[in-house]
Amino acid sequence: MGKKIVVVGGGYAGLSVAALLAKEGHEVTLCEKNPDLGGRARVWKTKGYVFDMGPSWYLMPEVFERYFGLFGKKTRDFYELKALDPLYRIFFHKKEIVDIPASREGILKAFASLEKNGDKKLIAYLKQARYKYDIAMKEFLYKEYSHLFSFLNWKMITQGTQLHVFATLDRFVRKYFHDHRARKILEYAMVFLGNSPKNSPALYSIMSHVDLNLGVWYPMGGMGMLVEALTQLCKQYGVTLLTGEEVIGFEYQNNHITAVKTKKSTYLADIVVSSADYAHTERELLSSPHQTYPEAYWQSRIMAPSMFILYLGINKRLKNLAHHNLYFSLDWDQHFDTIFKTPAWPQDPCFYLSCPSKTDPSVAPKDKENLFLLIPIAPGLEDPEDMRHQYADYALKHVEHVIGESFQEAIEVKRVFTVSDYANDYHAFKGTALGMAHTLNQTAVFRPAHRSKKVPNLYYTGHYTHPGVGVPMVLIAAEIVTHLIKETA
Ligand SMILES: Cc1cc2nc3c(=O)[nH]c(=O)nc-3n(C[C@H](O)[C@H](O)[C@H](O)COP(=O)(O)OP(=O)(O)OC[C@H]3O[C@@H](n4cnc5c(N)ncnc54)[C@H](O)[C@@H]3O)c2cc1C
Repeated sequence: MGKKIVVVGGGYAGLSVAALLAKEGHEVTLCEKNPDLGGRARVWKTKGYVFDMGPSWYLMPEVFERYFGLFGKKTRDFYELKALDPLYRIFFHKKEIVDIPASREGILKAFASLEKNGDKKLIAYLKQARYKYDIAMKEFLYKEYSHLFSFLNWKMITQGTQLHVFATLDRFVRKYFHDHRARKILEYAMVFLGNSPKNSPALYSIMSHVDLNLGVWYPMGGMGMLVEALTQLCKQYGVTLLTGEEVIGFEYQNNHITAVKTKKSTYLADIVVSSADYAHTERELLSSPHQTYPEAYWQSRIMAPSMFILYLGINKRLKNLAHHNLYFSLDWDQHFDTIFKTPAWPQDPCFYLSCPSKTDPSVAPKDKENLFLLIPIAPGLEDPEDMRHQYADYALKHVEHVIGESFQEAIEVKRVFTVSDYANDYHAFKGTALGMAHTLNQTAVFRPAHRSKKVPNLYYTGHYTHPGVGVPMVLIAAEIVTHLIKETA
């Protein structure tokens, strides 16, 4: 029989789990604190510009097809997907530019130009990445790990050595490539998983299969189209979607939650699924006897970076940019150190610059560009008003210098979004943008559990939980949690 389920948080994770649970016949209410749905993937519209506030890389399209397939739908029922070519453009120091084309031949040619036999080395590298990806998809990503032994199953033990779980990604890549540019192209995606390549398991070389073999895609209209698609599904299956509805605590009976308290009301619940930041739910929404993880646990976690973001509306076209642009500084360790070792505002930072108006005329007015600048910075960094402005000025000059094109005089929309905004808008622990880093001991069974150990009718989904950070990952988590509720509630 259907149960009353309250979902906390309306990002991709909350929306995707709410739709699945409603389809299972439950009576689902979703409470989102902000006025808009989408969470970190909210859309900001102003003066004819449409800014995706968070994710902009649409990767692993098969995961999205699988998710919508659960409803008998396809992604094309909701949005049109475009394959990007080039996949992305990289700016190295001294204004060297390398495009990574979409075709296999083009990618091999690009690597051959970076180092002797770079093409042959890449073929070998991508072969092992594909192998790991296939195992991850079959054995690993869609599984629920309630204890260590469910993780260490026979396949994981026998195939584990070939997954290179214990080597670091940086060392592993060095076995194949000498050239720092080639290595950076194969390692940069770790920042998307909130970690430095020097501290990430080589298992994550699968990320190169994800971008170089599976391609980089773009939903026309922007990543907000996915928020709309999930919202439509929720509505179709009768989910009650409440915005501006901040959850402030729970009522309990015999260690079970009986109701969810918001700033405006109280909702009876047989089951609660929290997709809000895990640390926020545990530390601030649950009373202390009901918390699974003590404060020392959170203080000892390696949190993923926060971000310094600029949303920019540019009143002219820019000629030097592709859709996705990356800058890798010569000594990128310096930048990683300011994130993970000695927190500081980075100088000569690596950055990601998205210009979706190159592909999609609907995200900027005619003859103008929509720019999104992202610089990873340390979680918890102080960001007083004067520092935000100062760093924005520095970052803009830096970007102009790197891309070899000026645009500051044409800026007509500018918004800074950084550490304290993540903390205020999403209740993000230490203002992290991405949640918990994907280190070895924060992967799979070592991520916070999908089900509370203290409150049996409380479940968790979203980027803190397995499989982790990223849009495809939270869609997978929605499936895992729906299955878990079916098995255990
Ligand atoms: C800048 C940036 C760029 C990214 N780029 C990419 C990318 O290109 N590709 C990719 O795949 N992934 C990317 N990611 C990661 C991806 O966006 C996230 O992993 C994913 O969106 C997380 O979704 P979520 O629902 O778990 O969390 P969230 O989106 O944070 O949703 C949680 C929701 O809970 C709400 N909430 C919190 N507390 C309460 C409360 N007390 N009551 C009610 N509601 C509450 C929050 O307001 C929020 O809406 C990026 C992330 C960021 C920040």
